[in-house]
Order: sequence, then structure tokens, then C-alpha cells
Amino acid sequence: MSLHPDFHISKMHELEQVCRSKGLPMTVQRRAIMESLAVRKDHPTADQVFETVQARIPGVSRTTVYRVLETFVQYGIVQKINSPLARARFDADTARHHHLRCTGCDVMVDLHDPSLDRLPLPTPVDNGFQIHDYTISFTGRCPRCAGKVDNRRGV
Ligand SMILES: [Zn+2]
Ligand SMILES: [Zn+2]
Repeated sequence: MSLHPDFHISKMHELEQVCRSKGLPMTVQRRAIMESLAVRKDHPTADQVFETVQARIPGVSRTTVYRVLETFVQYGIVQKINSPLARARFDADTARHHHLRCTGCDVMVDLHDPSLDRLPLPTPVDNGFQIHDYTISFTGRCPRCAGKVDNRRGV
């Protein structure tokens, strides 16, 4: 994703709207957590968000940051990307896009590919599951890690 310069401003508006509609106070913590997510596109873990927020709000607890992130996910203003092999990552961009994840260094980057947005959805009639959306995570090696592998092989 190329972050639109106004992206974080629009996310703050979104947060304000959600807080208003859910009757949640727009706390300093919520604001700082959303801001720290909206200005980065490296898909941080909850711990990484905590570190950033802690630098701004010294007394904030890890539990608070975790809880607020889960609330954001629940309200659909933040996307949580789970992986069975690594810690969950958070993304303020909730529009459909896909991800490339490096199995070497765990870096995660956005992938926008229109051909992936037009996949025919399966119709699992047997179990009654209704599919609403999907996102695809590809795993592999980033250029840096791929380079390391090649160097080792070359020696
Ligand atoms: Zn890598
Ligand atoms: Zn993303």
C-alpha cells in the first residue's frame, strides 16, 4: 500500500466516528494507538505498537494497548493478520489487500494485485458457511533474506 498522505487523518476521523457511535470515550490512549498504527505500514505486532505508544504515554500498560487493539479489530477499523507460525500483526488499512511475509525476518509488506481481488468465492453449501471476504498471505523470502541464502550457497 502506498500510504495516502491523509490516511492517518482519515483513520482518526474513523476512530472518532466509531467511538461516538459506540459510546466509547475518545481517550488519549485510543488516539495514540490508532495514530501509531496509521502512520506505519510495516504491520507491527501488539508489542511493537505498545513500544511506540509507551514512548508517548509513559504510564500506559501493555494490557491496555492489547485490549484497545482488539477493540479496534472488533469494530472493523483495524485489521488483525493472524498466522499459525508467528505473532499476530496489525494493519490500519482495512480495505482489501494481500500480504507478503518473509519467513526469514518476518517482514510483512502489502500486495495489491487486482487479479487476486476477483477470485471466485467457493460455495461451501454443506456447512452453511457464508463467505463475506478474504485476504491472501503469501510466505516467502524478502530480497534481503533471499540474498543471504544465495550468498551462503555461493560460498
Ligand atoms: Zn526477510
Ligand atoms: Zn497490509
